[in-house]
Amino acid sequence: MKINLPDIEIQPGWTIPGQLKKLLEEAGEVAEAIAEEDPVGTIREALDTMQTCATLISLVQSEYNLNLARLLLEHEEKLINKGYMGTPRHSRNWTCGFCGFLNMSKHEVCERCGGERK
Ligand SMILES: [Zn+2]
Repeated sequence: MKINLPDIEIQPGWTIPGQLKKLLEEAGEVAEAIAEEDPVGTIREALDTMQTCATLISLVQSEYNLNLARLLLEHEEKLINKGYMGTPRHSRNWTCGFCGFLNMSKHEVCERCGGERK
């Protein structure tokens, strides 16, 4: 499942500590919805939490000028190494020249960007 969050514009006055506060509030609302056995509310509040995380990440990324694409790749590789993406690392042994994704050896096109194996 892919959840594509809308890109929102950073508003004047938004800060990293302010986003953290908002994130904790949103997470608290997820907890309330779960306690109330409200599945729709749980998903709505979880989406708000994700959106706040995305905003926090983009604030930090722009303030410190970090390579977010590289960090996203490392994040994905970490999940592969933990076995959370189904296929163990030893059967993933070719790296896409276009996007850098570590692909399964049996695939001839990149699982992420569709680039052909060279
Ligand atoms: Zn690729």
